[in-house]
Amino acid sequence: MESGTSTRTTCPYCGVGCGVMATPQEDGSVAIKGDEQHPANYGRLCSKGSALGETLSLDDRLLYPEIAGHRARWDEALDVVAQRFSETISEHGPESVAFYGSGQLLTEDYYVANKLMKGFIGAANIDTNSRLCMASSVAGHIRAFGSDTVPGTYVDVEEADLVVLVGSNMTWCHPVLFQRLLAARERRGTRIVVIDPRRTVTAEAADLHLAIAPNSDVALFAGLLDHLNRMGLRDSGYVEHHTAGLEGALESARECGFPGASTATRLPAEQLREFYTLWSRSERVVTAYSQGVNQSVVGTDKVNAIINCHLFTGRIGRPGMGPFSLTGQPNAMGGREVGGLANMLAAHLDINSPSHRELVRSFWASPRIAERPGLKAVDLFRAIGEGRVKAVWIMGTNPADSLPDADAVQEALRSCPFVVVSDITRTDTTQHAHVLLPAAAWAEKSGTVTNSERRISRQRSFLKPPGEAQPDWRIICDVAARMGFAEAFDYQSPAEIFREHAALSGIANEGTRDFDISACAELSESAYNTLEPFQWPRRQGEASDADATRFFAQGGFYTPDRRGRFVPTPVVLQSVSPEFPLILNTGRIRDQWHTMTRTAKTPRLMSHYAESFCEIHPDDAEAAGIAPATLVRIVSPQGTAVVRALVTERQQKGSIFVPMHWTDQQTAQGRIGAAVHPGVDPISGQPGLKFSGARIEPF
Ligand code: SF4
Repeated sequence: MESGTSTRTTCPYCGVGCGVMATPQEDGSVAIKGDEQHPANYGRLCSKGSALGETLSLDDRLLYPEIAGHRARWDEALDVVAQRFSETISEHGPESVAFYGSGQLLTEDYYVANKLMKGFIGAANIDTNSRLCMASSVAGHIRAFGSDTVPGTYVDVEEADLVVLVGSNMTWCHPVLFQRLLAARERRGTRIVVIDPRRTVTAEAADLHLAIAPNSDVALFAGLLDHLNRMGLRDSGYVEHHTAGLEGALESARECGFPGASTATRLPAEQLREFYTLWSRSERVVTAYSQGVNQSVVGTDKVNAIINCHLFTGRIGRPGMGPFSLTGQPNAMGGREVGGLANMLAAHLDINSPSHRELVRSFWASPRIAERPGLKAVDLFRAIGEGRVKAVWIMGTNPADSLPDADAVQEALRSCPFVVVSDITRTDTTQHAHVLLPAAAWAEKSGTVTNSERRISRQRSFLKPPGEAQPDWRIICDVAARMGFAEAFDYQSPAEIFREHAALSGIANEGTRDFDISACAELSESAYNTLEPFQWPRRQGEASDADATRFFAQGGFYTPDRRGRFVPTPVVLQSVSPEFPLILNTGRIRDQWHTMTRTAKTPRLMSHYAESFCEIHPDDAEAAGIAPATLVRIVSPQGTAVVRALVTERQQKGSIFVPMHWTDQQTAQGRIGAAVHPGVDPISGQPGLKFSGARIEPF
């Protein structure tokens, strides 16, 4: 791209999905500013987004393919990948191989990876780090709505009278949306309630902070449903005409009731009452939730406990109201749309339905189709460790640090007969690669992403890939061709892939599925290049961008009887053992992203927190003999990590918080993933990253 020419693209970090203007400068730097036309941010950017130009150095980039640690030609590397995958499949069957992708992949990358694994290899062993991010929301949506639908939009957050943030440090993790919320509060006096065991910066900005006991959200919302029922706040017309299953949900809510909620959450009764009253009296209420809800072994029940309250009051799909899942990654939603999770099929079709499977197979003209869900992230790496999966291709993510029980993941990769990694830099995962493939980075690749409000935006390249780096979709198609599937993967551009994805979304979809962008099936290259951000659905014949599209105000769910489902959510509490008495909670901080492969490149972002830390309450620190700012060892049954003690009353007694970002590459022994318990939600398969038993000791 010529210097001085601006490119409209999208931020590669969080699910807010802000529009970015990138302008290469004559001195080789790139000026970044917010895109004033983009409906997600209208020109705003947060600290991470505005520092994007400082993360583009090529110092540590992978420039050439490698085989067994030695530089190789692309054709050699691709041949080895295709040959080893084909041999493994013919010797051990299609389920002996797996792909592990990332919410950093663009929708077009995701589409071809999913197509290759599910339609041509014929197994569903493709999962992604999005499993760690929002799988419980997907499962909760499907249980309640019959589809993975986010009913509302960002505008609802601005039009609500009450915004309840559950398990979300929105100020740091979805900063621009939080800025929009604060601006709305200025205009209309929005009340903000934060439900979080920690007193985060978001909690400090709230009108009411409920510092609930960790993982007691189900009880909080079951108690709310019981309260709404007792107060006679049922929207009888909505419940009668558009929903089913209320009695079961009411029964579990009744069993919990106010006393159960009070005991489980450990909140003072008057605070609980204040919250219930506020929620009851606010017609326009948005309950937005993030990883504190999803990253739990009861995450799906948490999601449904929240949705139950919105269905009961009919507060869904109308301006300023509804449950709202805030996705962590820039394209977690796009991955869901193409079926890039082990339990999904493309275009929100159902992998468990024989007719849906046949629909996709015949659309792809593929020789076979996965007949059952595949292995979800934690199980996938366990299967590698046990030798059931013998070849894995990891794309754009660093599971050796980011998955729970990360030492076991490292061990699994060490023992795996064949590991392929495509990425932009070396990580703790790439050291296990038999074949290493250099991928194009954010500034160098083109495609689409979908943000938390279902808005599809273009990501556009403005720099040439360095060395021999290639876009992910290109690498995947080249391997597919070598495996004998050249015709089905003969794409010349991301636009061609997007058109096919759009066409598939419209197949046999007469309003029977939520995801439909079939109006984009005929987009020309130039129309794709200039595509403006839009929210799905965009069905054939509905070419105009009906902005602020909402679902379910008038029912019309995607269950067989088109009714939304109440789901019983019995209260199940977790506990810790005397040997590991503290609850270890992991999460993001304001200025870092994932395992810091990009954000650590900028001193500006590193100056927020220069090293990893453990937030601990003063009483717990004293009991453990920990002095402020000293090094401590966190010990769990899985492993250990060494970080600095940050003694603070923001942290509840009995719990500690450690950021997820640091790895052994940045700080020796600093990687907290090693100490995180690998337990998962039985429905969603999402790991409970916010609740591991641990103890702390001076280092
Ligand atoms: Fe990027 Fe999220 Fe910040 Fe927007 S809010 S600039 S998408 S990190």
